[in-house]
Amino acid sequence: MFITINHKGKTYKADLAKPIDISIPLRAGKDNVSAWYVQPPRFEPVRMGDWVGDVNQGASVNFRDIYFNPHGHGTHTECVGHISKEPYTINQSLRHFFFLAELVTVLPDEADGDRIITKKHIEAVLEGKKPEAIVIRTVSNPIEKISAQYSGTNPPYLHPEAAQYICSLGIEHLLIDLPSVDKEKDGGRLLAHHAFWQYPHATRLKATITELIYVPNNVYDGSYLLNLQIASFENDASPSKPVLYQIVM
Ligand SMILES: [Zn+2]
Repeated sequence: MFITINHKGKTYKADLAKPIDISIPLRAGKDNVSAWYVQPPRFEPVRMGDWVGDVNQGASVNFRDIYFNPHGHGTHTECVGHISKEPYTINQSLRHFFFLAELVTVLPDEADGDRIITKKHIEAVLEGKKPEAIVIRTVSNPIEKISAQYSGTNPPYLHPEAAQYICSLGIEHLLIDLPSVDKEKDGGRLLAHHAFWQYPHATRLKATITELIYVPNNVYDGSYLLNLQIASFENDASPSKPVLYQIVM
């Protein structure tokens, strides 16, 4: 099923029958991806007296309570409400769901035990393009990323100048396969988050950051149609399901 997209005077085509899901499934248990020292997600049947919400235990339906943390347990999209005093929510911030995106691959620089994505990296991979969304895949990129235990590992992160540069290009949506765009222990400064959202002086209310995606190795860098969907949480962040469709000219 092909669709034709007319955008800023150009025409693109995409095949909706070939979705590339770059979300990480959220599962119960300790094999689920994890960051920020949160306990594993729990999926538990509701219990009311003798009744247990589990078909295998005699109920007519499966009826589970789910305990998870949007930032620590998988692919999620957040708005500036993540760092603001004002109660901005992702459900109010993200009102459009299709974007032209550029998928890029970066090998972070190593310095003093840190692995850093710099402005130079972003300049090099974008080659002057100004997409609406940038999808950053870091290498190495093993499939084990979908169950990585990131707490205390000082994962790679984005230099604030790189976040500032992405903002200066007018890119509104930043997707990355790491637990955060900032260093794990940065004293609470979150410089890249602040630079990307321009908070608090020129806040970009519609801009979003999506973390803990996974882009398989068989997906090539290039231009894609991005469908970015969330659950309608009135919270700073929601679990999300970014899906790419290759652009065919
Ligand atoms: Zn987050």
